[in-house]
Amino acid sequence: MTNIKMNLVPIEKWGISDQSPLIISGPCSAETLEQVMQTARDLVKNTPQVKVFRAGIWKPRTRPNSFEGVGIEALSWLQKAKAETGLLTSVEVANANHVYEALKHGVDILWIGARTTVNPFSVQEIANALKGVDVPVMVKNPINPDLQLWLGAIERIHQAGITRLGAIHRGFSSGQNGRFRNAPQWKIPIELKRLLPDLPMICDPSHICGKRDLLLEVSQKALDLAMDGLMIEAHPNPNEAWSDKAQQLTPDALAELLGQLKLRKPEGDELSVDFLSLFRDEIDLIDLEILDTISKRAKVVEKIAEYKREHKMTILQVSRWDEILKDRMATAEKLGLDEKFSKELYQQIHLMSIRIQTKVMNTKVSV
Ligand code: PEP
Ligand code: MN
Repeated sequence: MTNIKMNLVPIEKWGISDQSPLIISGPCSAETLEQVMQTARDLVKNTPQVKVFRAGIWKPRTRPNSFEGVGIEALSWLQKAKAETGLLTSVEVANANHVYEALKHGVDILWIGARTTVNPFSVQEIANALKGVDVPVMVKNPINPDLQLWLGAIERIHQAGITRLGAIHRGFSSGQNGRFRNAPQWKIPIELKRLLPDLPMICDPSHICGKRDLLLEVSQKALDLAMDGLMIEAHPNPNEAWSDKAQQLTPDALAELLGQLKLRKPEGDELSVDFLSLFRDEIDLIDLEILDTISKRAKVVEKIAEYKREHKMTILQVSRWDEILKDRMATAEKLGLDEKFSKELYQQIHLMSIRIQTKVMNTKVSV
């Protein structure tokens, strides 16, 4: 898929902050006026890097009868927090009414949550409510790892005339109990960035990790992948939070985390460029060799397929495949390659081989 044309404003020109990366923080949910004010005050005091305050007001909870946000009332709390601390404000909107209320109360940035991005009807309803309004909007990735759905939601909002538009990577639900609450699947935001290089990309390590101790690792990774900012949940007393207890940080702990992050630039320093171009030339050659080798392998596979066709053999001989996999994995291990990667690579190569053989087998032989 080739790059897509969109009229997008770079994040430094959103009129929010020219600081890079942009740091957004605040509680998962606004709970009380006191909690909102205390979080905002502590953030301004401890973490001058934070320029935007976040708080969920309408909370999409998985099960009913849990805390579903305080609703409209909290919008005036955000106004108070902004007036006192100067922090800009952001909230999640999930329908047209949320958009009207948030705008009426002067919220500075709107974001669309993962559970809303999955539904084109809801996204379109929000897009319609945004027509003629100039407000920054950020679209979280859908819960499921579907790049097209994420892209489609971004396109709908863009078609409504929003140009201060960004994406938030918050990981993808896998249904498995892995290390992360939502698996990062970095290749998806990287592909979105390739298709839309001008689209600001914020990472939300809180919802990726689901627990505090992974936040630094994921935040650093996001910055090393040239993401434009971080959205990290902070709460004055995380263990008592009404939602997402395990992943929220105190503003103090957030300050420590931000202090540990290493900031690098995509273009590096002056010296980096010369050396990098040498390494890149080397990589270009190696990649050429890899592709050339794969294509040579494919040609041998065709010959094997013709032989199997002539001798009425099945495409798959399980014992041979087992032998190949074991042998290649052992070699890969000796070469210091990652086990999971080597296995997936060989499964892909094998699938290609089966595809080629299926084609040859089904080709009519002229007599
Ligand atoms: C949130 O930001 O608190 C939230 C509900 O996130 P997500 O939409 O990523 O689940
Ligand atoms: Mn949350």
